[in-house]
Amino acid sequence: MLAAAFAAGENTVVVLFDRNEKAGKKLYLTGKGRCNITNIADKQEFMRNIPRNPRFMFSAFDGFFNNDIIALIEDQGVKTKVERGGRVFPQSDKSSDVIKALSSFVKKRGVDIRLNTRVKEVSKDGDVFTVKTEGGHYDRFDCVVIATGGVSYPSTGSTGDGYGIARSLGHTVVSPLPSLISLVTEENWPCELAGLTLKNVKLTAKVGKKVVYNELGEMLFTHTGVSGPLVLSASSRIADAPEGARLFIDMKPALDEQTLESRVLRDLEGNKHKQIKNAIAGLLPSRMIPIVLGIAGVDPEKTTDSLLKSERKQLVSALKSIPLTVKMASDISEAIITRGGVKTSEIDPKTMESKLVEGLYFAGEVIDVDAYTGGFNLQVAYSTGAAAGRAIAQKYSKEQNKMCDVRTNEIFAVAIDGPASAGKSTAAKGVSKKLGIIYIDTGAMYRAVALKAIRMGITEFTSEEIEPMLPDTDVAISFVNGEQHVMLDGEDVNGLIRTQEVSNGASKVSAIPAVRLKLVELQRKLAENTSVVMDGRDIGSYVLPNARYKFYVTAAVEERARRRYLELEQKGQLNGITMEQMLKETIERDERDSTRAFVPLKQAEDAILIDTTHLSIEEAIASVIGYIEGKDK
Ligand code: C5P
Repeated sequence: MLAAAFAAGENTVVVLFDRNEKAGKKLYLTGKGRCNITNIADKQEFMRNIPRNPRFMFSAFDGFFNNDIIALIEDQGVKTKVERGGRVFPQSDKSSDVIKALSSFVKKRGVDIRLNTRVKEVSKDGDVFTVKTEGGHYDRFDCVVIATGGVSYPSTGSTGDGYGIARSLGHTVVSPLPSLISLVTEENWPCELAGLTLKNVKLTAKVGKKVVYNELGEMLFTHTGVSGPLVLSASSRIADAPEGARLFIDMKPALDEQTLESRVLRDLEGNKHKQIKNAIAGLLPSRMIPIVLGIAGVDPEKTTDSLLKSERKQLVSALKSIPLTVKMASDISEAIITRGGVKTSEIDPKTMESKLVEGLYFAGEVIDVDAYTGGFNLQVAYSTGAAAGRAIAQKYSKEQNKMCDVRTNEIFAVAIDGPASAGKSTAAKGVSKKLGIIYIDTGAMYRAVALKAIRMGITEFTSEEIEPMLPDTDVAISFVNGEQHVMLDGEDVNGLIRTQEVSNGASKVSAIPAVRLKLVELQRKLAENTSVVMDGRDIGSYVLPNARYKFYVTAAVEERARRRYLELEQKGQLNGITMEQMLKETIERDERDSTRAFVPLKQAEDAILIDTTHLSIEEAIASVIGYIEGKDK
């Protein structure tokens, strides 16, 4: 998502393919549904938490680090907090808020998001990549970012598709193994303690005689063995050969054996004649007492005064080192992350571009970098994603936009103006499809402002009421499946702006100069670097006076009222409006639009008039296209 958002600069058209019904699905799972966004550790500490290929991350972290992702998420209105171990979470403890923040950022950047679309194949022919999606659809691109994740939690869509694509393009994939995974133990006793969490313990992991992990923290018992942060991190150190690895839990890491022994002695003496299992209640969670005594070989029913010195020593050493033997790692599908992936030596660490295939990029877990828990892995994903996206934006800011006239290599605009319901938008959409350039509906922007005013309880739509609202009103455009969506303060309001109430409000707010100036600025920006078909009231006369093609599409007012009535009827949004009322409101809107003082609706001098009163949709589109082609001859 970040790669797409950052790539979507002024000169790029970016499509994000996601096989899921929602982008960012895996984030739901992170931090047990709370989303451990990142960690506030410094770069050095980050490096220590990345067991494989940390050096690959240097420049990506330099470009986009923990403070950047926190700022980005907070900018979208999601507050964050820092918890133990420097872990950053959303204040709401809801991973869905983080997903919303990222989605809204991506949409604001104008990325065309194609959901439920699984990529099957990526191939390169000459300079052009072809992306083939399930269902046999093809799209062509100048570059491709593979950010498909690893193979853990396949239900979230990470089924390893990216590895196959990388291989097909000539890359080496280091075999994926589970990392950060629960461990199954030979011993059965953890089952009796399933669900019990141990805090402030030390976990040591040994492979053969070698200590491979030794940290303080938290862990827990499961029905088949052990899990929790310490175990997940340890698992990443033993992923090569988990079977037979030994784990040792130190229940009292703050005390050395001697100090612990005197503490035990004190407890025993204070509880003379009591059964040993009761005497040590202050030392351990109660469910663990019989287990630890079992490991120490001490009869729990025995009284303290009959405890042998050797038994006491065994108890102390059990408290310092409860042994477990790993039978295996849980299944890779349950691993929090996958280690392995596309070989880092084949990727440029500054840009994430493949060293083998120009224009191919990688981001996130698909790369052979993995880290411990604590928000580090997600940061690796953001940093590599941002690096790839920025590299692409930079590359194409220097190149000509692809959406230009193929013959003259120039950007051009088609302006379509006219009164409400004249068929402008239908004609504009048809033309944009035919010419392969984007369609921008400016009326939707005025509608979004009106919606905001309505939501704020504004009824008169005077400039006194509307102007104070404007500085906090963020109207933006994004494209979903090639279709324009209007974002109001980060919310997609496309489905809410076609009611009659909003229509009337829009024509009122559009008479306010401050509203127009704000939206015209956005409209001009959208047309600055790419070819567009734009429809509205003032596009040819004011917004884009240099548009290469200008049309004024109109129809008899009765016919327009009739079309609008049928449209609302079809959507079930008539809300009791009669045909007479509709005619009256249409006449009023026309009147308001064409008599307002600031940039009223009027036909630009050089616009071609198309009357659609007696034309079908196809005829109207053909008429516009006909003029464009005729003019070019
Ligand atoms: O085109 P649509 O009916 O969606 O536009 C809603 C209202 O927004 C129009 O009635 C008009 O008053 C206003 N508008 C405008 N200038 C534009 C586009 C729309 O004033 N360029």
